[in-house]
Amino acid sequence: MKNFILITLFLFNASYAINAQQKSENQSNAKFMKKTDAEWKKELSQEQYYILRQKGTDRPGDGGYTKHFEKGTYLCSGCNTQLFESNSKYESHCGWPSFDDAIKGTVKQTSDFSLGMIRTEITCNTCDGHLGHIFDDGPKDTTGKRYCVNTTSIKFIKTEDDK
Ligand SMILES: [Zn+2]
Repeated sequence: MKNFILITLFLFNASYAINAQQKSENQSNAKFMKKTDAEWKKELSQEQYYILRQKGTDRPGDGGYTKHFEKGTYLCSGCNTQLFESNSKYESHCGWPSFDDAIKGTVKQTSDFSLGMIRTEITCNTCDGHLGHIFDDGPKDTTGKRYCVNTTSIKFIKTEDDK
């Protein structure tokens, strides 16, 4: 019984902390994009719809953007909002593209209790598209965070070389 209460308290505190953070993030969200499910289905590829709107997960591996390290910016593949800069991308060997930081105010964090785990889901703050999860095992010399992102959720735009 005592353990149960402790766990409940822990869950409550964890979700309270995340909600508080979410609240402050949401205040900077001036233009939230709301579309119906049918609109998204029409606009996105089948794969994008599955990952972004149904919270699916890309198969892990070295494909997609996992081993991609060109200089540029990664946009949300649902709404084109700039989410991650290439200088925050690093090799995590986890099988998905990993970043130690997001562009300020663009990514929302929400507690996720699915699949019997306690995780923090990350979504696009503009269109609410599912991006992946955030973990605390990122590079200790920078933020310590690992934004674990589906390749399908993002698209890369190369930085133009100065002329
Ligand atoms: Zn988006």
